[in-house]
Amino acid sequence: MGHSASSRIQEYIGDPIEDNAPVPAEKLEEIFQDIQSDIRFDHQLNGCLNCGICTATCPAAHYYDFSPREIVQLMWTENLDGIYDAMQEKIWSCAQCYTCAARCPFGNSPGGLVMLMREVAIKHGMESAKQVLRPFSRVMLKLISTGNQLSPDMINPDHFADWGPNISKIDAPLALLRKAIPMPTLNTTKTAWEVNLKTSVELYTIWEETGVLDQLETIDENLFDVICDLMDEKREDWEDFLEDQEDEDDE
Ligand code: SF4
Ligand code: SF4
Repeated sequence: MGHSASSRIQEYIGDPIEDNAPVPAEKLEEIFQDIQSDIRFDHQLNGCLNCGICTATCPAAHYYDFSPREIVQLMWTENLDGIYDAMQEKIWSCAQCYTCAARCPFGNSPGGLVMLMREVAIKHGMESAKQVLRPFSRVMLKLISTGNQLSPDMINPDHFADWGPNISKIDAPLALLRKAIPMPTLNTTKTAWEVNLKTSVELYTIWEETGVLDQLETIDENLFDVICDLMDEKREDWEDFLEDQEDEDDE
């Protein structure tokens, strides 16, 4: 009696020594449904022997408090609290190498499940997703505005302080080095390759239609605003180009 009464009270007020407020059951259910309803889910989870082969071969498990076996078990047993907890930190340790998927005797893909969990963490604007993705904002800016992921001028000591002293070896005369690469498209340091205006504008439509921009807005509103301004500018350039073409055709 005493135990159940204290459980009920705790359910209502939360754990007094826990910093975070308890997550409502409906929210946990919603998050799990979002993961489970993805079309990839059924291909990535077929059962689990709990054999641990995935964890034994997982590079991330060697260095972090992370286990693909644990992720699969959480999903298989529909442990909603555990799934939510794993989404706060553990899922961001996976290197997405898919060694686990190649080795699992059940044909599971723990790495694939991690990817689903990450996407849902972004969709729900979880703090863990915001923190993990924040350092990648300049890569996102480059990717969405130009179609390039990384350009040579981004690889410098200021941006890769965590690379240690060896970063100086690539802090070289980039423009000169790029000219040494035979393909003419690589003679640029501001982009990895040139993306023409039409392609950029088409990419913007893809980002919009696939919900990428909505996700970005959830995670980083400032970056979203900057990217929208850039997109507007390029779309105007494209419209101007088309009008010029029409004028030329009329002459
Ligand atoms: S996911 Fe596969 S490899 Fe990993 S514990 Fe389960 S059955 Fe074993
Ligand atoms: S994909 Fe992730 S979970 Fe699977 S082996 Fe690689 S690092 Fe480990």
